[in-house]
Amino acid sequence: MDFLRPGGWEEALAVKAERPGALPIAGGTDVMVEINHGGRRPEALLDLSGIAELHALEHEPAGAGDAPAGRVRLGAAVPYTRVIGELGADLPGLALAARTVGSPQIRNRGSVGGNLGAASPAGDCHPALLASGAEVEAVSVRGTRHVPIDDFYLGVKRNALAPDELIRSVRVPRATGPQQFSKVGPRNAMVIAVCAVAVALHPERGTVRTGIGSAAPTPVRAREAEEYIAGVLADGDLWERRDPIPPAAAGRFAELVADACSPIDDVRGTAAYRRHAVAVMARRTLRWCWDAHRSGASDPRPEGGAPCA
Ligand SMILES: Cc1cc2nc3c(=O)[nH]c(=O)nc-3n(C[C@H](O)[C@H](O)[C@H](O)COP(=O)(O)OP(=O)(O)OC[C@H]3O[C@@H](n4cnc5c(N)ncnc54)[C@H](O)[C@@H]3O)c2cc1C
Repeated sequence: MDFLRPGGWEEALAVKAERPGALPIAGGTDVMVEINHGGRRPEALLDLSGIAELHALEHEPAGAGDAPAGRVRLGAAVPYTRVIGELGADLPGLALAARTVGSPQIRNRGSVGGNLGAASPAGDCHPALLASGAEVEAVSVRGTRHVPIDDFYLGVKRNALAPDELIRSVRVPRATGPQQFSKVGPRNAMVIAVCAVAVALHPERGTVRTGIGSAAPTPVRAREAEEYIAGVLADGDLWERRDPIPPAAAGRFAELVADACSPIDDVRGTAAYRRHAVAVMARRTLRWCWDAHRSGASDPRPEGGAPCA
């Protein structure tokens, strides 16, 4: 197996064009597990870990990409530790999700770009990126594509990257309202999600976005639930009045989120349990977000911020 170590971004793109079979490696927390367990034997590894552009965090101004509060351009190899330490205020949903990934060692190496590259339905970034309305910057020697996150996941561990493309960054709109993430697993750390839910309020648009992980072949949004709850909030003038969401409406929202799932039975959980847990997490994350919107508090969860449901 060749080990290719480009000196910079342009060289990395040229190598990927020349050798599309070369497997990118950033933190290596997915790639090395697959290689060590014999699940993968790529002809070459393309080491992206030393490329400065992929470690950059940039703040784009308000209005960029139709984002009223601006966006964060998160280099593909930025590790979770930095997302947690530096982006908790700008991207609270993603930072909450990052807190639940693996262990400190994994969070020091693992990256959002690697999560996107792996495109596992259980990847923890995906629900938060869907709820935020992120965009993936996919680059090749042919040019740059900005792929909306809704179009990025194509199937189980399949994404929209062409064989010669690399992820340069993910652009995530800065939060304009409360965001939450909840994940179910047998314990609070070092655990792959049995299922996960993210909710983000977008008060300036009067919309609510969702993301569901590990409960369908790809991460998915619950669009019917989003439309339903946006209608409830608009009809009751609740964004302005900041009254509680009626329990029946929160319950219906939870049901519709569960309806958006198409889970399977596997070693981590049954389909029925996943549907149930997704509904519970949908109701909770919506309540946490709405309580924060009403009170202006950043994290009103009764658990005091524990990331798991
Ligand atoms: C013990 C352990 C616990 C874990 N716990 C969790 C968890 O709780 N939640 C979770 O979501 N994940 C978890 N993971 C999986 C892994 O840590 C994450 O998916 C992480 O985000 C991968 O990032 P990485 O930089 O290490 O990716 P890598 O392993 O380097 O790459 C992963 C994939 O992305 C591709 N890739 C990487 N960078 C690019 C790029 N710039 N352009 C195109 N393709 C690219 C690679 O080719 C590969 O297919 C865990 C892994 C381990 C070993």
